[in-house]
Amino acid sequence: MNPDIQSVLLTEEQIQQGIARLAQQINTDFGLTQGQSLTVICVLRGSVLFFSDLIQKLCGDIRLEFLNASSYGMSDVSSGSVNVNYASNFEVENKNVLIVEDIVDTGCSLDALTKLIKSRQPAQVKTVCLLDKPSRRKIEIQADYTGFVIPDEFVVGYGMDFAQRYRNLPYIGILKKSVYQK
Ligand code: 5GP
Ligand code: MG
Repeated sequence: MNPDIQSVLLTEEQIQQGIARLAQQINTDFGLTQGQSLTVICVLRGSVLFFSDLIQKLCGDIRLEFLNASSYGMSDVSSGSVNVNYASNFEVENKNVLIVEDIVDTGCSLDALTKLIKSRQPAQVKTVCLLDKPSRRKIEIQADYTGFVIPDEFVVGYGMDFAQRYRNLPYIGILKKSVYQK
């Protein structure tokens, strides 16, 4: 295990089981098993591994779009304001859209992203997050699909970073406080 990790919160196996469960619900709800189409939005960079594993388990006509959202910088607490850059053409008008987020914490990011996508006149927007940290909510928002509810700990791995590190860890771990409280 990486020496900066205090403990493993979710193993590779647990993550994959959670994703299989989410994919099954999404396949049913959007009629993907009947060949319906869905535009899936990857919120870079944190959700990239979750997004990659999730889309492989979706059926039907799946299109991909990418955007960059950042709020953290070099801190472990959200700054509250969210910067968004489109990293692909972004065709969502009249389409069924699913926003894929790594983690919902204060709720500011998911709220801002949902409003932004809705302003582009999609047919329907839903959200999926792998992790939910409900204890620190500032905006009352909940993803339509949630993988795991977790305690108020700063986690890294499986796409999630601290100062751009640890994204490549295959598991989700709690980062030692000594790493970010220097
Ligand atoms: P919110 O806007 O809900 O406060 O935060 C959402 C974003 O903050 C997430 O998409 C994620 O990028 C980042 N974030 C929130 N909590 C954590 C955490 O425990 N670890 C990491 N690495 N990022 C987090
Ligand atoms: Mg994020």
